Amino acid sequence: MPDPKAFLTTPRRQRERRDPQARLDDRREVYRPGALLPIINQQADRCMDCGLPFCHHACPLGNLIPDWNVLVADDHWRRAAARLLATNNFPEFTGRLCPAPCESACVLAIDADAVTIKNIELEIADRAWESGADQPKPPDRMTGFRVAVIGSGPAGLAAAQQLTRAGHTTTVYERADRIGGLLRYGIPPFRLEKHRLERRLAQMRAEGTGFRTGAAVGDDDLPADRLRERHDAVVIAIGATACRDLALPGREADGVHQAMTYLTLANRTDEGDHPVSPLSAEGRSVVIVGGGDTAADCLGTALRQRAAAVTQLDINPRPPHDRADDQPWPVHPKVYRVTTSHEEAGAPVADPRVFTATTVGFETDGRGHLAGVRIASAAPGDRHPTPGTERTLPADLALLALGFSGPERENRIAEQLGLTHDARGNLTRDEEFATSADGVFVAGDAGRGQSLIVWAIAEGRSAAAAVDRYLRGGTADLPAPITATSRALHAYVEERRPVRALGVPGASPRTGRTWACGRCGESACRASRRGEGCLTRH
Ligand SMILES: Cc1cc2nc3c(=O)[nH]c(=O)nc-3n(C[C@H](O)[C@H](O)[C@H](O)COP(=O)(O)OP(=O)(O)OC[C@H]3O[C@@H](n4cnc5c(N)ncnc54)[C@H](O)[C@@H]3O)c2cc1C
Ligand code: SF4
Repeated sequence: MPDPKAFLTTPRRQRERRDPQARLDDRREVYRPGALLPIINQQADRCMDCGLPFCHHACPLGNLIPDWNVLVADDHWRRAAARLLATNNFPEFTGRLCPAPCESACVLAIDADAVTIKNIELEIADRAWESGADQPKPPDRMTGFRVAVIGSGPAGLAAAQQLTRAGHTTTVYERADRIGGLLRYGIPPFRLEKHRLERRLAQMRAEGTGFRTGAAVGDDDLPADRLRERHDAVVIAIGATACRDLALPGREADGVHQAMTYLTLANRTDEGDHPVSPLSAEGRSVVIVGGGDTAADCLGTALRQRAAAVTQLDINPRPPHDRADDQPWPVHPKVYRVTTSHEEAGAPVADPRVFTATTVGFETDGRGHLAGVRIASAAPGDRHPTPGTERTLPADLALLALGFSGPERENRIAEQLGLTHDARGNLTRDEEFATSADGVFVAGDAGRGQSLIVWAIAEGRSAAAAVDRYLRGGTADLPAPITATSRALHAYVEERRPVRALGVPGASPRTGRTWACGRCGESACRASRRGEGCLTRH
């Protein structure tokens, strides 16, 4: 029987992970199978079912979180699955991989521990597969329109599934030999076992989506303009995988590689393409340059390959344990996080990260092989080396995980369709995901820049709705959770002014600070002034 006061009496408990050292012996997911079952109903019961659910607004997909929490607490799993699958095509991916901005925005998180929303989502998703509640949904009738989706990451897959279900004949063109984008060749299996991807692809095939691998659109044998002529609409979802580099002395040394080269080979080895990875960290001293997801995935992979030592360099200062003043609830704050890879390396006790570390060069052994990475402490604020702090970390493998600068420029799709890039290197599109070329749309990282899976799925769904409107004319039936310019909830600091003049309920009398919704981009929008929390869908 659900307890209306469970949020007061039941402590937050998360899904248990396997022993960190035991995890290094295999590449299986880090979570203990079935670990959620005994606790999940009580955890869902902690949801207060708020009148204004900030979690729902913080989720780019607009997942109906309080609805499914209540249903799970009551053991209504099939109905919970129906609610979840109404807004999220791939909850088995987000339930494992999403950083859960919804939990940062949970009302309980104001002064207690947030509801374990992501864990609950995952349990609903996994049970839906096991119980047969997540069945293929082929269209009732075909529209006769043909759509090409270029790229098979989460954005392309979500767009394709929505368009197929709406009755359009949809084909996904992927240049790689396997479908999945970064879900396949970026994220390692210890965070997402690939049979989960295969299962979803089998469902999509059963619904009627076509897949063509080894199809590099833009190449001479498959030019984008010809593809456009053969289809009624095209969705470009080619990701943003142009890797940033470090133009530093010694960069050409043998042993300095892009992180994505390393991760792709490790994933290919797991797929059976190589007996051992052609670029293995085994027995090597590894330095990973970068502080994000990609760097953490390199760390977990290098530990599994039995590296002799691994150090990770982060140019930023170590984040605080708690929210900083300029990142108030309900934004997703930058705080000190220990990922599963860091846990395996011994964090937080022995954290392999060196913070405020800037790389100044690579040293070689005289025969062109990497021998060390030269680093210095970064001056706070300007990231430049502080004089007198230079030192060398011995290394014979350096992995560059410095982020991405938009879609790869070698891709000739833009040139062939007459598309332009914006100031950040992403493909230009309007609010409705449409480019300047008639019937050509852009979804996912290719338009937004390197982001998150949840945003990619939301982009795919919304771009599919835009395509559906374009094809049928007028209104579409498909849901569009975001626009192309929607952004995550973010904080900003108002110029210090008397609160009365600002007129924003809840602004701190001490700092005059408030926050605004990234969706409208207004500094103090009218909704906020009216006390609606600036969180209505714009
Ligand atoms: C190592 C790593 C770890 C990450 N971990 C997380 C995480 O834990 N959680 C999270 O939320 N996000 C994570 N991300 C980010 C997330 O993976 C991306 O935001 C998401 O995959 C973007 O989806 P997408 O469909 O836009 O592009 P992608 O997944 O990049 O897919 C693009 C696809 O287009 C194909 N393509 C490119 N050019 C062509 C062409 N000319 N013709 C045909 N096909 C083409 C590519 O081969 C690729 O398959 C991670 C990213 C990286 C790099
Ligand atoms: S997709 Fe991410 S933000 Fe949305 S409910 Fe799931 S964990 Fe939260």
